[in-house]
Amino acid sequence: MRPLSDRTKGFTDSVIRRMTRISMQYNALNLSQGFPDFDPPKEITDRLAAIAGTGPHQYSVTWGAQNFREALAEKQSRYMGRSIDPNTEIVTTCGSTEAMMAAMMTVTNPGDKVIIFSPFYENYGADVILSGAEPVYVPLCPPEFRFDPNELEAAFKQNPKALILCNPSNPTGKVFTREELRIIADLAKKYDAYVITDEVYEHIIYAPNEHIYISSLPGMEERTLSCSSLSKTYSITGWRLGYIIASPEIIDTAKKVHDFLTVGAAAPLQEAVVPALRFGEDYYRHLQEEYTERRDIFVNGLDDLKLPHTNPEGAYYILLDISEYGYESDVSFCEDLARKVGLGAVPGSSFFREPVSHLIRLHFAKKKETLLDALNRLEAMRLKMKNRMQP
Ligand code: GLN
Repeated sequence: MRPLSDRTKGFTDSVIRRMTRISMQYNALNLSQGFPDFDPPKEITDRLAAIAGTGPHQYSVTWGAQNFREALAEKQSRYMGRSIDPNTEIVTTCGSTEAMMAAMMTVTNPGDKVIIFSPFYENYGADVILSGAEPVYVPLCPPEFRFDPNELEAAFKQNPKALILCNPSNPTGKVFTREELRIIADLAKKYDAYVITDEVYEHIIYAPNEHIYISSLPGMEERTLSCSSLSKTYSITGWRLGYIIASPEIIDTAKKVHDFLTVGAAAPLQEAVVPALRFGEDYYRHLQEEYTERRDIFVNGLDDLKLPHTNPEGAYYILLDISEYGYESDVSFCEDLARKVGLGAVPGSSFFREPVSHLIRLHFAKKKETLLDALNRLEAMRLKMKNRMQP
């Protein structure tokens, strides 16, 4: 048999999704893959039940049901601060995962360079490989995960076609400031590059931080492909509803890429989520309050345990320093954490270009009792390590 494609040799399966499978194997509490253990808003689950009887059950328009795009355009126009045309400036996709892949295929040719900040959400590496592009990594330096503008400019001097911007950022929890976004935008304009965003955590922000859409900066609307999803905002990660918002010129091409990749996102789910897209400001304020409470419970618990960790400004992840547990490999630590105390986490190394083995990622999109249970398990792991180290 002839070997399979060269392009798939460069990456493994997703470590995040693998850790979910390992968590299931050990019946562990899963703080690895980021998804909630609480229900979506009742308005949309009721609507979903109704749609089971009435439909639609057949394909929607390939770039998204009219209803869905109109409601999304109205909501995003409010938040992104410009008037978005539902017919020419939106493609509805199967989650932001497809949105990012379609955006990459829309913008890049094989061999093109793409800037990725490290640490990064693991899909970007695979997206770049699958589209035949070549990543150029620029480090975000802890504890604040700032980039060095000179290092970023050096990357732009390599003539990249695009930069990928995850804001708020997974896994660091960083929210890029206006000044940082201005530096990125100025370089993108100076070196004529596109910016492909991943803004799935746009509504999960902790005060006093504020989410600024890079597309709203001067001269950026025409060179930004704003990718996002409804997964985190409405707690429906399994519905796989995402989108790209960009100029009509870009969307015209992205529609074709999307059409041949997937034809379309699930029609009944697009229809069912419309009431949520029409929620008022209250919903988003409440979402932030709830996530702020979850963050506080988790962060305070980690502080009580004296475990060093990042302090998220947005999104729902924490990088935890596991040095004290005495493992050489973060992967072995995560396997043991699931097996010995029933807690699922992601090895930090799967997010970094740089060699890193002392960090794990935990997420806190969970009920209060789940988070308290997770904290107890981290403590139980510590006791197990202490016992092991005793003569
Ligand atoms: N974005 C989430 C995470 O980083 C979920 C990833 C996924 O599996 N789609 O865990």
